[in-house]
Amino acid sequence: MRSQKRIYLDHSATTPLHPLVLEAMLPYLSQKFGNASSAHFFGNEAREGMDGAREAVADIFGCSNPDEVIFTSGGTESDNLFLKGVGFALRRKGWGNHIITSTIEHHAISHTCEWLAENGFEISYVPVGLSGIVEADDLRKFLRPETIIVSVMSANNEVGTIQPISEIVRAVKSFNSDIAVHTDAVQTPGHLPLNINGLGVDALSLSAHKFYGPKGVGVLYLRKETPLEPRILGGGHENNRRAGTENVAGIVGLARALQRVESTRPEKTARLTGLRDHLIARVLTEIPGSQLNGDQQKRLPTNANFSFAGVEGESILMALSLQGIAVSTGSACTSGKSSFVLMAMGVDERMVNGSIRITLGEENSQEDVDVTVDALKEAVKRLRSISPLT
Ligand code: PLP
Repeated sequence: MRSQKRIYLDHSATTPLHPLVLEAMLPYLSQKFGNASSAHFFGNEAREGMDGAREAVADIFGCSNPDEVIFTSGGTESDNLFLKGVGFALRRKGWGNHIITSTIEHHAISHTCEWLAENGFEISYVPVGLSGIVEADDLRKFLRPETIIVSVMSANNEVGTIQPISEIVRAVKSFNSDIAVHTDAVQTPGHLPLNINGLGVDALSLSAHKFYGPKGVGVLYLRKETPLEPRILGGGHENNRRAGTENVAGIVGLARALQRVESTRPEKTARLTGLRDHLIARVLTEIPGSQLNGDQQKRLPTNANFSFAGVEGESILMALSLQGIAVSTGSACTSGKSSFVLMAMGVDERMVNGSIRITLGEENSQEDVDVTVDALKEAVKRLRSISPLT
């Protein structure tokens, strides 16, 4: 590995815990250790921390009722809780059994949908083209009288494409306002607004470790009118919707992290967009046989997903890793496998295998980007000369 500083460019996989977030969490990992359900003052302290966090998150969502915020163990659980909890509740009401999602969702959604299909639900997958955008007009064609749920991610974790969520909500609600619309917004905090009324959704998933908060804690926002059957049974925590002693320090950290990224969103978005565009321009002009995957404009300010003809993405990743530069070949959860997202978009199979994802974060500088492009140029050239792929 290079002796210079390590460069982390895999922020869609996870982000470092911010020191201010750690500072907010520490009292709840030490003196304020009480169980938030206990009736004595130790319990009160913990409960106050959790109530404050719930109000802060509700405030960012712009929802008047903090009880619409359900704390979970992360994005995966929030997605599972929504799809299974609301799916079974609406089916039990006799409203239908049909769920619409897209072909490029995270496995927390797609694998849950596969499981639901084995359990009596019908699932439709809206396809995407090379842009990686789920078009509202395409989705509209799948709506049926028995549709109960539509779930489309706010931004894709591999190619960073930003989805037209409010347009999708309008298309769905004008067909049937009872359909519950959910968005997996795990990749968007700090980059896109999270106002529930602006988005128009009934439910939204977040995960703290994607926005400089701790791992193992997330949120499901769920509009109060939306029925839910809890999936984890036990005590009456989270208003009888998600049992289990609450991770108070994690919850306090999640709220602090969300407040922090929200308060600095405009400046950070502008800076990161500039950095991302500089990265994209350098790669596309300086590395022959390279392409950017996904829409050029409608993408997260942090995401650049490239393919390089004649090289394996995995080999590039390893070459950069030896130089102290961390990138990925796609989602951390699917590493080692060909990207199903790029395949669903219709990217040429040879280019799918030659893809890497670079995801910037707030601590990255232009120097980090320039050092990375120089190393990438070298790596691609060397790999092509050692084992040219046809
Ligand atoms: N949804 C998306 C879009 C993600 O990117 C991720 C994590 O990579 C998840 C869900 C799962 O979140 P967690 O890691 O908190 O379970």
